[in-house]
Amino acid sequence: MAKCEVCGKEMSEEDGCGTSKIHIGGKVFDRIKCGNEEDFDSDMAENERCHDCGAKKGFYHHWGCDAERCPACGGQLISCDCEDVFIKA
Ligand SMILES: [Zn+2]
Ligand SMILES: [Zn+2]
Ligand SMILES: [Zn+2]
Repeated sequence: MAKCEVCGKEMSEEDGCGTSKIHIGGKVFDRIKCGNEEDFDSDMAENERCHDCGAKKGFYHHWGCDAERCPACGGQLISCDCEDVFIKA
């Protein structure tokens, strides 16, 4: 079991992360929700959970999820080259 560093909740028990904004390189972006058309997994079924963080479709991925896309560059958030990336809870 793992707790999310941002929302502090048990990831497999929550619908999703509670924080909608992400700071990247001094700008603020809207995070990309699970199953959104911009998400890596854009064809998730209703009530399906993210394979990595357990967030439900239509909710935000938990922090550190390998399926969250970076809204600044479109890459994988945990491995992209953007700097100064953080979320304020
Ligand atoms: Zn979270
Ligand atoms: Zn996820
Ligand atoms: Zn990026």
